[in-house]
Amino acid sequence: MKNIKDFTLSELEDELVSIGEKKYRAKQIYAWIFRNVDSFDEMTDLSKELIQKLKENYYIKNLEVANLLKSKDGTIKYLFRLNDGNCIESVLMQYKFGYSACVSNQVGCKMGCNFCASARIGFVRSLTAGEIVSQILEIQKQADVKISNVVFMGIGEPLDNYENVMRAIHIINDPKGLNIGARHISISTCGLVPKIIQLADENDLQCNLCISLHSSRDEVRTSMMPINKKYSIKEVIDACRYYIEKTNRRITFEYALVDGVNDSLDDADHLAKLLKGMLCHVNLIPINKIKDGIYEKSSTKKILAFRDRLNDKGIVATVRRELGSDISAACGQLVRSEKQDNL
Ligand code: SAH
Repeated sequence: MKNIKDFTLSELEDELVSIGEKKYRAKQIYAWIFRNVDSFDEMTDLSKELIQKLKENYYIKNLEVANLLKSKDGTIKYLFRLNDGNCIESVLMQYKFGYSACVSNQVGCKMGCNFCASARIGFVRSLTAGEIVSQILEIQKQADVKISNVVFMGIGEPLDNYENVMRAIHIINDPKGLNIGARHISISTCGLVPKIIQLADENDLQCNLCISLHSSRDEVRTSMMPINKKYSIKEVIDACRYYIEKTNRRITFEYALVDGVNDSLDDADHLAKLLKGMLCHVNLIPINKIKDGIYEKSSTKKILAFRDRLNDKGIVATVRRELGSDISAACGQLVRSEKQDNL
């Protein structure tokens, strides 16, 4: 059985032809998927025979809500159970410009960053495109909202699940799919250099790229993120320069401020030097506490001083609003279990 939500529209057209149906049926089915129906029986403009054939070859439901938590700031965290019993989390956030969904792309994560709860839970498998898209569909249905922004900042490393994430982005972006503009879709990566280069070469894609940098010094970054042993800061920055050259798109560098580790004014100067002249933006994140975490959050005073120092040096920097930390829905706090024991 195949997941009907795993296909782009043109792939679904090929599928329909392969089971002996007319190509145009795919458009009808696609429209129902994005009207968010849960069964083929609800697709009332299809014949009984076709519905039967679809049921024999495909399934449509691929996740269900196992739990949800609401934050006092309005953020909602969903625990979704996939068909194989594995769980993932997704977050709905409300901003002035609209609703944003933070989606997971893997069950667990291989990257091992020592400040991130998702790294603690081990890696199980990557999600399919349909499972990624369904998180948005289900959030829209549950909360009765229209999502206008999607961030790949939930569990998993999107560039380690490249093909499925790209297919999901095409479906999210398709006017006949979720119809969310590519500029409203952001991918965050810990810095998988060959994949950043591959992404740069996909010149039709206009989505935003965010790099989890967290330090401009190799020894510090390696102590926080094992991936830095494989791809040094210089290699990551070179790949980013290539990306900017190819796409003309501004890159966002994420920088989680940790007290006494990467938050001095000297660190700000070092970072400003590294990013000098680049088409970029720095997003400062006050580090969120995780269970048995070794890091403490920098004081607000230090965070603002760091931001001001970067701005003074000509690097645009802002502090990310903290949403959902009371329900462990903030950056780095997502896990895949029903036990909320990550705090
Ligand atoms: N694997 C991707 C997506 C992960 S989460 C990546 O590494 O970019 C999105 C952001 O949250 C990343 O920048 C990540 O480094 C950051 N993050 C992880 N744990 C955090 C924590 N405890 N506090 C603040 N930010 C954290």
